[in-house]
Amino acid sequence: MKDNIVIYWFRQDLRLSDNPALCAASKAGRVLPLYILDDYNSESYKMGQASRVWLHKSLKLLDDSLDNYLSIYNADPIAVLKRLCSEYNVTDIYWNRCYEPWRVKRDKNIKENLQENNINVHSYNGSLLWEPWNVVKDNGDPYKVFTPFYRKGCLGAKPPREPILKPDAGVYFKDPKHSIGLEDLNLLPNNNWHQLMIDHCKVGESAAQQKLDDFIEVGLSNYKDGRNFPACPFVSRLSANIHFGEISPNQLWYTIKDLYDDANSDHFCSELGWREFSYSQLYFNQDLPFKNLQQKFDNFPWKDDEVSLKAWQEGKTGIPMVDAGMRELYQTGFMHNRVRMVVGSFLVKNLCLDWRYGERWFWDCLVDADLASNSASWQWVAGCGADASPYFRIFNPVTQGQKFDSDGEYVRKYVPEIAKLPNKFLFSPWEAPLLILKESGIVLGDTYPKPIVDLKKSREYALAAFASLKKEQND
Ligand SMILES: Cc1cc2nc3c(=O)[nH]c(=O)nc-3n(C[C@H](O)[C@H](O)[C@H](O)COP(=O)(O)OP(=O)(O)OC[C@H]3O[C@@H](n4cnc5c(N)ncnc54)[C@H](O)[C@@H]3O)c2cc1C
Repeated sequence: MKDNIVIYWFRQDLRLSDNPALCAASKAGRVLPLYILDDYNSESYKMGQASRVWLHKSLKLLDDSLDNYLSIYNADPIAVLKRLCSEYNVTDIYWNRCYEPWRVKRDKNIKENLQENNINVHSYNGSLLWEPWNVVKDNGDPYKVFTPFYRKGCLGAKPPREPILKPDAGVYFKDPKHSIGLEDLNLLPNNNWHQLMIDHCKVGESAAQQKLDDFIEVGLSNYKDGRNFPACPFVSRLSANIHFGEISPNQLWYTIKDLYDDANSDHFCSELGWREFSYSQLYFNQDLPFKNLQQKFDNFPWKDDEVSLKAWQEGKTGIPMVDAGMRELYQTGFMHNRVRMVVGSFLVKNLCLDWRYGERWFWDCLVDADLASNSASWQWVAGCGADASPYFRIFNPVTQGQKFDSDGEYVRKYVPEIAKLPNKFLFSPWEAPLLILKESGIVLGDTYPKPIVDLKKSREYALAAFASLKKEQND
């Protein structure tokens, strides 16, 4: 074993297996593995509160798997890296690439700065199946529509890298002088709101592998259709593990593809494709998180209504399917994809509130908050993004509930105060006769809110607002 020290910088790849940069580092010398909480360069995209709770647990488990060799810092990365290089005579730093605009900019600056000081940076792809610049049209333009992006761009390209094993144990080194303790990162909130949430979070590399095994056993064979039913165990719930890099998309891709060659495994892989598509959109449109991709939406007459926004955030809109989703989010840090679409459509198209309010709330509350997937999905929901759901496609939260939660299991779990309603009225309690409300122990406006909007009228208002945009464009 070489006894020179090299640095391995963990970022969104909090795992030992299938980690190309860590493997390369471990072949080059004794590895000083480190994590730096970077609130210095992230500006308005500092990690949200729920993500910080996940990160706390994830770093703890990562440190355990490194036999407590993880060095931790809370500072501007360039300062940390330069100091360590000079203190331990390090000439080589390894990391896996990140793709968010602020990280790309930061890493480029760091790389230039280090190279000027004769320090080599070795970067690898550890987070994507295909990097954005490798999936472009024949003329070099990025794809704007998912199907050709995935079918032609991704599946027509070189297959993704195959997963690799973790490095041998015993190659690590810790910086005893400047590393701080995990608690010093202050990732956990002062109050106890996260206690309930943390119980739902299966964090870390081993848990992610276990979740994958469970999903293969229980969910995968029903995935294609079953993925739409929020009360059913047919989705993987791996999004936060993937976001933090506790499991790589390559591990998922090859495990699933090697096991089955059917419509369910294809569909699952195509959902990983949506993640790739989101990263491509963000990479080629750096202002995706805050600027409408379709400019015509810049003049959309959004409403200014803090009361409705608060009711939406708190799951008190009086529309059970929406409230169930928003409460699932707040209590668990997760929300099922079907319900994300329902609550998103409701915010934008029934409340007529700007999609960026939704994006921000999700950013703070989701444990899987991911700049690429969150921004691209909100733009998709609002109709202003790439290959977006057309603006006139307005999800009806009542029929969505009846169709995808027909026995009411999901709504009853998160909105227990209306649990006694018969299924017929569970998704629209305002339509229930007074006697049934009484028998179910419900007083609308007291034990459960009256709906904050009329679904039909608000839909018409949204469609008219959209039509006015089209007219403006044609004039
Ligand atoms: C308004 C809105 C906001 C969203 N915000 C995020 C976010 O911040 N982070 C995030 O990871 N996903 C986001 N999504 C996408 C999707 O809802 C989640 O990835 C999915 O619900 C995670 O559950 P799962 O792991 O069980 O997914 P599965 O169905 O098991 O899918 C496997 C993996 O594929 C990826 N994936 C699946 N669907 C999508 C999709 N539509 N777009 C991008 N990747 C996808 C995820 O990494 C997911 O873990 C958002 C969707 C909407 C409508």
